[in-house]
Amino acid sequence: MIYLDHNATTPVDPAVADKMYWFLKEHFGNPSSLYPIGRKVKEILNEARERVAGALGAGRGEIFFTGSGTEADNFAVFGILNALPERNELIVSAIEHPAVLESARYLEKNDVRVTYLPVDSYGTVDLDALRDALTPRTALVSVMHASNEIGTVQPIERIAEIAHEKGVPVHTDAVQTFGKIDVDVRKLGVDLLTVSAHKVYGPKGVGALYIRKGTNIDPYLHGGHQERRLRAGTENTAGIVGFGEAVRVLEDRGRRDRPRIERLAEALKKGVEEKIPRVRFNGHPTNRVRSTLNFAFPGLEAEAILLSLATKEIYISTGSACSEESEEVSHVLTAIGLRPEIARSSIRMSLGRSNSDEDVATVLRELPEIIEKLRKITAFNPED
Ligand code: PLP
Repeated sequence: MIYLDHNATTPVDPAVADKMYWFLKEHFGNPSSLYPIGRKVKEILNEARERVAGALGAGRGEIFFTGSGTEADNFAVFGILNALPERNELIVSAIEHPAVLESARYLEKNDVRVTYLPVDSYGTVDLDALRDALTPRTALVSVMHASNEIGTVQPIERIAEIAHEKGVPVHTDAVQTFGKIDVDVRKLGVDLLTVSAHKVYGPKGVGALYIRKGTNIDPYLHGGHQERRLRAGTENTAGIVGFGEAVRVLEDRGRRDRPRIERLAEALKKGVEEKIPRVRFNGHPTNRVRSTLNFAFPGLEAEAILLSLATKEIYISTGSACSEESEEVSHVLTAIGLRPEIARSSIRMSLGRSNSDEDVATVLRELPEIIEKLRKITAFNPED
């Protein structure tokens, strides 16, 4: 199989699986228990916390584990809005992941005024629109670090500067950048930042929210004292341990992996553009997470391309995994100005550790043939 959907999820690294297995066998204690087997688990969780914090340039006390990246995004948005009842305005980009976008839409039904910042044709957020939208009643600005669909990286440092000038905290969803480009909370200047384990070869069902020390935020889950009273519930101990190990592996081999994966992605991009006529690249040409490639094949249905590739055991995506089952056109591709039929013809290939030169060569052999065949079947008309 050739797996080209690393933005949807990644295979669990063998070292992560081993560490989780060891932990599950050896350590069943509740980290809140005061006797040794509980304390030991707390200690192991704190090692994982330290690792995640270290990788993000944060302090250990600034990392709060959650049940997913989605939960961390919800925690940031609702936690800040609830803590600032005198402020009822929220600013997000139009291309956020549904975890932020649907939270914003929910709040809108509850009398929060939401501004959806437009993006240009490369998917970069309009900073003038941000300046115009900020008011003394703005509670939060939430703009993702990079798009899961097209990979475009946002100018988060500038966004944070502009928002902070008006005293407004900033959240960024770094689920798709962590492990792929540098993510440092201090350099980015953000107050809150989301990451998710299963995008970095860790287990599913565990994420983390960085909350800058001193940030005014309400608890997200109410109950026990876990996660310093901000996120109650007995911790997903094995998941957190796996997350910590995934980050260790990332630091160990990230430097080697990154340039290799980027080189493969560039070769694939170049090959597709050279071998297939009338292809359109979606996303920023350079300011992008390089492993994310999104192409439109005007006149075709992305789903037909996906299914044809799947018969060759090549797995890609038609958009974000979360919207895969819906008939809706991608809000990201619409926001960058694509007509619905062009958006519907777009596929995403996202590369990762498992890919090789051979994979790229195989895709560059199979994909042009598939496109040519599908174009014949659908009586492709270049004038359309
Ligand atoms: N944010 C972005 C940008 C994502 O790509 C994803 C996953 O697709 C999420 C949030 C959600 O993370 P999780 O799957 O851990 O809920």
